[in-house]
Amino acid sequence: MLCNLLHTNPAQLSNRCSKLKSFANQDKDQAAIPQSSAPQVTMSSPSAVQSCTVCNKQRANFCARCKSTSYCSKACQKEDWSTHKLLCPSFPAFAPSNRPSTNHYRAVLFDPDEVKPKFVWLPCKWVDDDDEDGAYQMPETKTISGDNTLSRHIPIQYNPRLKVHLPNTIVTAYRDTFLIDGSRPNKSIAAITATQPGTYQEWRGPIVAYARAGQGLDPPACKDLDMIDFRHVADYFLSYGYTPPKAQANVERVKGVRINCLGDVKMLKRPPFEAIELPTTDPIFTKHDTSDIADRIGLPILTRRCPPDPKWANNSKDPMFEHNSPSNNQNATFLHQCCGPSAQFDPSTGSLGWGWCSVPWQSDVGSAIAVRKDRKPLLPVHMEAFAKWCKEEIRPLLAHSIGEFYPEEPINKDDVLTIICRPMFVIYWSKFVEERKDYTAPSPYADVDV
Ligand SMILES: [Zn+2]
Ligand SMILES: [Zn+2]
Repeated sequence: MLCNLLHTNPAQLSNRCSKLKSFANQDKDQAAIPQSSAPQVTMSSPSAVQSCTVCNKQRANFCARCKSTSYCSKACQKEDWSTHKLLCPSFPAFAPSNRPSTNHYRAVLFDPDEVKPKFVWLPCKWVDDDDEDGAYQMPETKTISGDNTLSRHIPIQYNPRLKVHLPNTIVTAYRDTFLIDGSRPNKSIAAITATQPGTYQEWRGPIVAYARAGQGLDPPACKDLDMIDFRHVADYFLSYGYTPPKAQANVERVKGVRINCLGDVKMLKRPPFEAIELPTTDPIFTKHDTSDIADRIGLPILTRRCPPDPKWANNSKDPMFEHNSPSNNQNATFLHQCCGPSAQFDPSTGSLGWGWCSVPWQSDVGSAIAVRKDRKPLLPVHMEAFAKWCKEEIRPLLAHSIGEFYPEEPINKDDVLTIICRPMFVIYWSKFVEERKDYTAPSPYADVDV
């Protein structure tokens, strides 16, 4: 159905589900609740309470602490524990008696900077619907997602992991542009996805999950989100964009970074630095370029250009590119500045000698992928810091050495090479993480020395 969008890319989702007007399939007594008779709390349906949250078997017992989730056996409780434990202890403090007002509902906030999700009271005011007879309860998520962003509200009505239709509707709300607006990776969702192997959708920025009473296309009334609902939210994050761990354990995979060009970033909404995994059979391990600068700082990488995507390659004049070529990729270009003191022009490789990027990396680069030569993980944050350093610090230095600061006497090559070294990059890295307040990013050298 329209609203069951579990398998759609969030960047492509529209807001069509957030305010659909049909109340088809709705419980009669929940449809179009007038403001005066709005239920203070809508409980989960009795069958959901009494059956096991994990396997749906009847006659299950409540979790002793939160008394919200029920299990048929120790085995089912254990199965749920890795996510249940994140919120169970704080559930009693969010009892309905602690509700700040009748318009506040229990919801779950996934704060990007916190290590786990937390309950919040979400204000949900009734608003009159001009083109409809009924009223509609509108959660106030702007204070969470930010004033200047469009937030998306995506309903969840089916749990593909437990294979059950939900008795109520759970909605996740997040910034529409979280992949490209500088939103930080969401650590509290990572607390859930890190409990299971495989790779997952990259969630960024603040995300809130709230519940609506009943199913249908757009249930008007909000309800408290309980621990059973939380299980469904956790399963949503565990199934959305999920790639299972490789079946064949003998095919080793290497974590690398795709450095996306303008076309991939602007038109296809990919992040500038994107985490990728490559099998060791990938051609990059046999045919590649390298970076002199990366070699010099003790983090040797292999690089390779990717074929252009026809979507932007055939629309290079699209106004979104503002007269730039969509294959422009300065982040990848400046990694390839030549630091071989005796390098000369070489038509066979496209080398233009000291201080210049080789011809294939000069223009029309397209997106590129990079992995570490030692096959250890290369993270997007490492690549971003390194590319920035090459562009902001090393490029002017090399430009100086080839006379671009005339009439200044050019700095000699040996002095340049002394500056392009591990300590200088380590200093830059520490400033970089300081500016972003990303204190959890592991140093790119963290596992080089072991
Ligand atoms: Zn069970
Ligand atoms: Zn519990």
